[in-house]
Amino acid sequence: MDTFKLYSSGDIVRDTGLLYFYRLLREINEQNQSILQPKLALNYLEFQLPTEEEFDLEAALFNQIINVELYQTFIQDLSAEKIDPVLINEWKQSSLGELRTNLLKAKIPTKQIDKIMKKSETIYFPYLRNSGKFGANAQSVQNFHRNLKTFIQLFFSRLQGESKEREFYGEGRVCGICHLEHAGVYDITHKYAADIVESLPEKQRIYRTDSKYLYTFQGSQNNTFSNYADYQQDSAICFSCEFFNLFFLLYIKKEKAKYLVSCQNLVHMEFLQRKIRMKQDIYYQQSFYYQVAKSTKSARIRLYQVATDPNKGLLLKLEDAIEFDDLLKQIKLMDFVDSFSFPEEQKNVSDLKQLIKRFILNKNNEMAYQYLLGNLINREANIMAYNWSIVVKFIEEVMKEGENYVGKV
Ligand SMILES: [Zn+2]
Repeated sequence: MDTFKLYSSGDIVRDTGLLYFYRLLREINEQNQSILQPKLALNYLEFQLPTEEEFDLEAALFNQIINVELYQTFIQDLSAEKIDPVLINEWKQSSLGELRTNLLKAKIPTKQIDKIMKKSETIYFPYLRNSGKFGANAQSVQNFHRNLKTFIQLFFSRLQGESKEREFYGEGRVCGICHLEHAGVYDITHKYAADIVESLPEKQRIYRTDSKYLYTFQGSQNNTFSNYADYQQDSAICFSCEFFNLFFLLYIKKEKAKYLVSCQNLVHMEFLQRKIRMKQDIYYQQSFYYQVAKSTKSARIRLYQVATDPNKGLLLKLEDAIEFDDLLKQIKLMDFVDSFSFPEEQKNVSDLKQLIKRFILNKNNEMAYQYLLGNLINREANIMAYNWSIVVKFIEEVMKEGENYVGKV
């Protein structure tokens, strides 16, 4: 078993993809006696790569992507079919093989069942409709699956420095994203041994290009899609970066991420992205903050907004560059709002929480505090006492204004 390290490049797309890859590794790890032991460090992701006899990681990853991740996004999208969200959540835990039974059990009209079943036969990678490798342009799901398998294999063999792959795909320019690997000259869908391709007439050779679906990279900074036309025809994005681009797309689709955070520290980035998604998790965990706080000094953070465009695909827009300490403070204050117990008479608690969080985002902590104070009263004495404790913590946090949090949590 060998230990591998994958380094952060500082590129938001690649690093977000790397973090989602980390998450998938963790899931596979949990289901398989901790064989991978993935760990996140400040600037790299580390994991154990078992030998083929020990564990087939390539097959496990393929299965996780196709049968768990993509299947779940497909089920998620059934909300457009007006299916009960409770059922959707239930079905996410099942498999494609059980779909028809589930639909029948839920008494979905036959016509709709047929429609959904038909759709389920064409599950491709999200946002890659035009991709001849992973999207509908691959012409069949079988082709897409075969390409994905090849691609996963390619990623791992490059990781292990196997030169056989270089013979197949050639060595092009240095990748403009990671600045480490060389981009391939040929792509996985037109694989030839280099000596064969050299003997082909120039016109018959098909070169790997920076295709439209890799645009998320170049579009991430200034988001000008028209730039694409100016890009060089040959590829300057390596297979590994393309690999992480897939995980990036999966992340956006699966988590419906509206914001992305990038900073120089992968541990922070993972933490902040998770927090910022503002899901229904319980956010307030002292030990969690402690971990973040002890890991590094304050750093500048970039916040991106994610937008989807039917023609251009995913677009990232730089929203804000803020200090790590400020963002951490905002998140902590929002955590207090989440853990606050609003009175039963209060009808739209989630709207109210959103409103208070918006005040916090706009640095209007005074108004947020007033709202908490206004909802403090509760019929049950112990809940009221609890709310008081939250408000006190809230004030303490606000009072720390201007202080450096790191190391003090
Ligand atoms: Zn690269």
